[in-house]
Amino acid sequence: MSSIFTKIIKGDIPSYKVAESESHIAFLDINPIAEGHTLVVPKKEIDYVFDLPDDLFSETMSFAKKVAGAVDRALKPIRTGVVVDGREVPHAHIHLIPIYKNTQEVALRNKVKVSKSRMEEISAAIAKEVIL
Ligand code: AMP
Repeated sequence: MSSIFTKIIKGDIPSYKVAESESHIAFLDINPIAEGHTLVVPKKEIDYVFDLPDDLFSETMSFAKKVAGAVDRALKPIRTGVVVDGREVPHAHIHLIPIYKNTQEVALRNKVKVSKSRMEEISAAIAKEVIL
C-alpha cells in the first residue's frame, strides 16, 4: 500500500505544497509544532531515511536546504531547525521547524493550532520564496 506521502505526491490527497522538483516535494505538516513546519520528502518511497542511496540522501538534504532558505525568508524565524523521526509515516522525510523564540522546544509532540486560512497563507508565502 502506498504511503500517505505517495498519495500526496500523486495528487490523490491534498497538501499545502510549498515546493516540488522531479524527485522531491515539500509541503506543510498538517499537525504542525510551529507555524511553517514543513516536510521535505523524496518521491521515491523508502521508509528509513538512512536507507536512501547516498546520492538521493544528498539531494534530499540539498532540497531541504533550499526550502529552509525559503522558510527563513518568508517567515523570518531566528533559524529553522531540522528533525528526522519517521515513526509515524514510513516514507523518509525531513521536518523543517521554524524557531521563533529561544525558549521554543523543538519536539514533535508539541502541536500548535493553525487555521486552514493561515496554512494557506503560510504555504503561499514560503512557495513564493523558493529558489530551486
Ligand atoms: P514522523 O513520521 O514521526 O516523522 O511524523 C510524520 C509527520 O507527518 C507528522 O508530523 C504528521 O503530522 C505529518 N503528517 C501526517 N499526515 C500528513 C498529511 N496528510 N499532510 C501533511 N503532514 C502529514
